[in-house]
Amino acid sequence: MDGENKPRVAVHKFSSCDGCQLALLNLGEDLLTLAARVELVHFAEAGPTNPDAWVDVAFVEGSMSTPEDIERIRRIREQSRVLIAIGACAVSGGIQGLRNQADGAAWIAQLYEHPGAIASLAQSTPVSAHVKVDFELYGCPVDSAQMLAAVNALLLGAVPRASTDKVCTECKRQGHPCVMVSRGIACLGPVTRSGCGALCPSLGRDCYGCYGPAENANTDALTAQFARLGLDATAIRQRFQGINSQAPVFLAAAQRTGAGHD
Ligand code: SF4
Ligand code: SF4
Ligand code: SF4
Repeated sequence: MDGENKPRVAVHKFSSCDGCQLALLNLGEDLLTLAARVELVHFAEAGPTNPDAWVDVAFVEGSMSTPEDIERIRRIREQSRVLIAIGACAVSGGIQGLRNQADGAAWIAQLYEHPGAIASLAQSTPVSAHVKVDFELYGCPVDSAQMLAAVNALLLGAVPRASTDKVCTECKRQGHPCVMVSRGIACLGPVTRSGCGALCPSLGRDCYGCYGPAENANTDALTAQFARLGLDATAIRQRFQGINSQAPVFLAAAQRTGAGHD
């Protein structure tokens, strides 16, 4: 990205709630600083629209849910030097990935008078299932400071660093009382990657895994701990079937509980 021209950046949306784009908009003054250093070529929520332009960095929000999505993400990949998937939808298929375990066609047939008019893939999949992804940022929504840090690293020619530690680490550093130890509440912090600042435990509630699996997540040990807290197999499975249900580590943990699906 050297040279006189500013690096060109695009922000694309797929199946998602727009929350991760809002996280970027919520950068406030930092976004204005960033906008001065890069050329925002496509960011429909903020104004500029040029989805087919070549860019240095493409941020992609949302999961792949329709045949058109797959064609579009391939075009974006061809037109991008670096592609960054942002948020649980783009990285693991998101909450909409819960339908991967269900018969989506049967649901559509029940809901719509003309089911043939609905172009929906059987599975909601992450961006990486279809094209090469250079960097992934988990979170629901993604943390805006992490996004900014990733862009800054790329502008400096460095490789962005992903957080792989566990939420428990942040939680302990900040001195929050452990909701699992002190109140017997099932918390996914021991297997969830850090980056949110242990937001939920700081407010006295459990982590539900929105930052996705941490490195070396010991889900078997946590499953055993949840059982000791009195959760049955269905309740344990449901703890892993949240926003990142299709992240392989959480998916495997849910399947190992052996309970049937709802
Ligand atoms: S990851 Fe969460 S906040 Fe981001 S687009 Fe998906 S549902 Fe919305
Ligand atoms: S509250 Fe949750 S994140 Fe914090 S230390 Fe306890 S288990 Fe870990
Ligand atoms: S504590 Fe867990 S659920 Fe809450 S914001 Fe952090 S990663 Fe997400």
